[in-house]
Amino acid sequence: MRKLIQGIVDFRQNLTKEKRELFAKLALGQKPDSLFIACSDSRVVPNLFASTNPGDLFVLRNIGNLIPACGSDSQDHSSSAVIEFAVHSLNVFDIIICGHSECGAMKTLLEGAPDCCGHLKQWLKHGEESLNKVRNGFTYDPSLSEQNQLSQVNVLQQMEHIASYPFVRERLERGEIRLHGWWFDIAAAHVHCYEKDLGRFVLIDEEEGKLILDRLGELCAK
Ligand SMILES: [Zn+2]
Repeated sequence: MRKLIQGIVDFRQNLTKEKRELFAKLALGQKPDSLFIACSDSRVVPNLFASTNPGDLFVLRNIGNLIPACGSDSQDHSSSAVIEFAVHSLNVFDIIICGHSECGAMKTLLEGAPDCCGHLKQWLKHGEESLNKVRNGFTYDPSLSEQNQLSQVNVLQQMEHIASYPFVRERLERGEIRLHGWWFDIAAAHVHCYEKDLGRFVLIDEEEGKLILDRLGELCAK
């Protein structure tokens, strides 16, 4: 907590003129580029590894970057409300699901949640299809630990869950929304993206970054 308070004091003291102007402008409204869905894990810091500024990302974070599928018996409306708001009110064009290595939620999925954590157990049900796939031998990279294989498979599973909402599916079919699957390798501080044609995650370096931007073409200018 001490670090947090000192951080606020430092932030205030070091706020540049440009940053002050940016916040003043943002107070009038937001127009984020993307909806970014990530795990609550403290080591996953999207604004840092994607070098984004305030106002760039609309963010949803929860344990395991899970999205209840449309029509599931979940009592959680938080995730679906975020997606609805991002799509209907903010007209976000890109939705990114970002999993990560050494994810505690994936470890708990593999090992089973302790009895004291009933809510966690309920929540992790949204990752059970991912778990079943891995248990049946499905993987995008057999060289990874089982936990990390599960985390990657879960990214694609949650993309399916997002696409299960009719208002998302319709926009996907009309090309008005794009879904992206990313995976953050904590130890290497590398971000990978899922390449459908290759059927695996690829490091986003300068070359891959250019490839992605070329593919997105002029739509990126949005
Ligand atoms: Zn995690």
